[in-house]
Amino acid sequence: MSRLTLLNAKSVCRRISDRIPGNRRPSLSDTNPHIGLSQAQVTAARARAGWNELPAAKTAGPLTVLVRQFSSSLILILIVAAVVALALGEAIDAATIGLVVILNAVLGFVQEWKAETALAALRKMLSPKAMVIRDGQEQIVPSRDIVPGDILVLAPGAKIAADALLLRASELRVDESVLTGESMPVDKSVEDPETLVFTGTSVVAGRAEARVTSTGLDTEFGKIAHLTGSVGTKTTNLQQKLSHLARQLGLAALIVAAGVSGLGIALGRDFLEMIMTGLSLSVAMVPEGLPAVITITLALGATAMVRQNALARRLQAVETLGAASVICTDKTGTLTENKMTATSIWTMDRQYDVTGTGYDPAGHIEADGERLRAVDDPVLAALLQTGLYCSHARLSFEGETWTMIGAPTEGALITLAYKGWCELQQERNLLAEIPFSSARKRMSVLYQSPDETLVLTKGAPEQILEICTTIMREDGPQEPGPHDLQRINDAYAQMAEQGLRVIALARRAVTTNEIVEEELTFLGLVGLIDPPRAEVKDAIASAHSAGIRVIMITGDSPITATAIAQQLSMKVSDCQTGAELDALSDEELAAHLTRDILFARTKPEQKMRIVASLQDQGQIVAMTGDGVNDAPALKKADIGVAMGIRGTDVARDASDLVLLDDNFATIVRAIGEGRRQFANVKKFVRYLLSSNAGEVIALVVNIAIGGPLVFLATQILWMNLVTDGVTAVALGMEKSEPDQMQHPPRRKNTPILGIGGILTILALGIYTGLSSLWIFFELLDQGVELARTTAFTAMVVFEKAGVFAFRSLRLPGWRIGWFSNKFLLVALAVTLSAQVLAVYWPPLQFMLRTVPIGVAEWQWIAIFALPIVIVPELLKSAYHWIYRVK
Ligand code: ATP
Repeated sequence: MSRLTLLNAKSVCRRISDRIPGNRRPSLSDTNPHIGLSQAQVTAARARAGWNELPAAKTAGPLTVLVRQFSSSLILILIVAAVVALALGEAIDAATIGLVVILNAVLGFVQEWKAETALAALRKMLSPKAMVIRDGQEQIVPSRDIVPGDILVLAPGAKIAADALLLRASELRVDESVLTGESMPVDKSVEDPETLVFTGTSVVAGRAEARVTSTGLDTEFGKIAHLTGSVGTKTTNLQQKLSHLARQLGLAALIVAAGVSGLGIALGRDFLEMIMTGLSLSVAMVPEGLPAVITITLALGATAMVRQNALARRLQAVETLGAASVICTDKTGTLTENKMTATSIWTMDRQYDVTGTGYDPAGHIEADGERLRAVDDPVLAALLQTGLYCSHARLSFEGETWTMIGAPTEGALITLAYKGWCELQQERNLLAEIPFSSARKRMSVLYQSPDETLVLTKGAPEQILEICTTIMREDGPQEPGPHDLQRINDAYAQMAEQGLRVIALARRAVTTNEIVEEELTFLGLVGLIDPPRAEVKDAIASAHSAGIRVIMITGDSPITATAIAQQLSMKVSDCQTGAELDALSDEELAAHLTRDILFARTKPEQKMRIVASLQDQGQIVAMTGDGVNDAPALKKADIGVAMGIRGTDVARDASDLVLLDDNFATIVRAIGEGRRQFANVKKFVRYLLSSNAGEVIALVVNIAIGGPLVFLATQILWMNLVTDGVTAVALGMEKSEPDQMQHPPRRKNTPILGIGGILTILALGIYTGLSSLWIFFELLDQGVELARTTAFTAMVVFEKAGVFAFRSLRLPGWRIGWFSNKFLLVALAVTLSAQVLAVYWPPLQFMLRTVPIGVAEWQWIAIFALPIVIVPELLKSAYHWIYRVK
């Protein structure tokens, strides 16, 4: 065959993707299973059957979100307040409260709607895909595009996209529990010509091709299912904790409010004033807006994470990520590129080098300085042929480049066969197959060559040598000599030490039509280079400085895994294989897990035990996975991380986080994002509570010393609902602090407030409360209206000044940059302008009962506001210098 023919991409692909005529049953429809539908047929079928989708799960519409704004207990309190005011003839107060209710609802609506749409966008990104054969090519298309007549290609982990009739299957096992509730996977074979596979069920093992019989609502699943959105909207721990806090404060507020107004009335104060004060006090104390602010912060955070290629399937993940203390990661594709190229071949007689990169067949095989082709070397020919036919990957030449569909290991072996000018058969006569699985670590096919029937096998060298009894030499298969096994192992170790992934190949001739995985002839080893991803080394270093351990758990050999770990500067002092792991007791495993350990030659099932043991030690575990057998470990881990490119549907469904680029560095970035968000939640919770504390202290102290009301109910509502909420959301957008990844992870149950938080809230509350009270009394002889307006404005300004103390709880402003949070600057400008309007714009003056204040009053406000900015800044700077925080 000429080189030119070989490089004729289209014909090569056609030949490679040809299938076995003998293994085909008569089709029920017109679709040729080898060619599939043409684009025109797809369009026609879609016109008849529509899109392959079920009506979308109901998400909250704008009206529902708006109505929800009026259903909180806060709004109920306010409505009661308005009614009481109206009943007592205070129409202005009632109208003002009404206006505040509406303003609050609008703000809440905007926030929640933004969160809803952000989540809807995330849900969209999770839409499933399926592999089909169309126009003679395997293609990956959105499941929604599938039409009756399409030929589905099914592989382990795939969620079946439509009901389909099985055409070909090898060792197919399907989990039908979503339909039948039966938890054991069901074997499916073409022995029964009517065998169907169903939408929503997933392939556990094997490979198959099936012709779609029905789609969308016509499928079995469509008939029974109510599709649920796949981005979980379950409330997160944080949301639960904060709702709890809000409830507790609500109760305390009622008690304090009832006590204060009761006391006021008993002391002979105006009844209406006291009732309104009580109501506003209870509103002042309850941070009712908190849960909504949290939701929007987490949802916007999830959107920010997508920009970093991490898709949170549950909001919970964003929050938990910040606390992750261990990342258990696989190697291939996560730490490495997963772009494999064969670089060396070893047989019993020779050592070969291979040139070229990627899946471009431009390159050659050479030994002893001589270029070799399959025809020159029968052992090489047998090895290349085995790699070529014992594979499902496809190469195609599109545009100017070669692309590969399938497993990179197999793509590399096919490219290698091209480089060696391996003879390509017109028909790939594969009669049967035992598919690859990470548990077996090898695969075999039964191949009909023009002269004989062969079992072709490839896999991890240990798994191949186990079933070989002879070795291939130039003059044919031979019994191995006394040192041959050692020679093979040495060659294997030598390749693995360079970080190469080593595949062994073997074969035997058979007379039956069955695959016998025994008494094979060992052909040789192929070393595949799979370089570490460029950004991973830094990401591992960053994880270490953030106190996060990285544990590699791989199916590859211990030597290859250790070599890659070294290339990535990962500390490894202990390496356990899957077999060794099985022999360890739980206590021994726990002891090993305290060291810098690496697990190699593991089966996916073993990940579960590792997660459980780490969790018993109190660790928060992020675990990666891509295969169907990884799902239980992904579910068990605190953060299950599935691969967006390599991962199967089943793994994705079990995960909390999907890496859109399969890259380890993305996990570390996502952890950084999780930490940022948790830190920001802490900041705005403290901020909101300290504002409330100031108001409550001013009110209570004032009532105790018997002064006229310092703030009116409507003014408190204005402060809490109009000016503070906006500022809190902006605080939630604060960028990550420069030293964020230099601290160990927070512990699982770290309280949001803690003693430090409570003390800060009290200190700031006492200062702002007493200062505004002092200003109030200082100006009282110029009229209560002026004093009250100034105290009210002072409180608003204090609250705005206080926000700088919370932008970072440890770092001074000059370290994080005074202008680094643009949202906050805008929020401050907007809320302060609103306050100026409240003081000088007649309609607001009328509603909030304010009067214009003069320069002298503003001076008082500025004098008292300055320390709020300066003192925390000095304290933080001192801390910074003393402890030399970076
Ligand atoms: P990781 O677990 O880090 O992703 P891995 O891809 O090496 O690593 P597995 O997929 O479990 O893990 O593969 C285990 C071994 O099986 C590989 O080291 C290789 O020797 C062999 N192997 C991988 N893919 C194939 C394949 N398509 N056919 C035959 N053997 C394979």
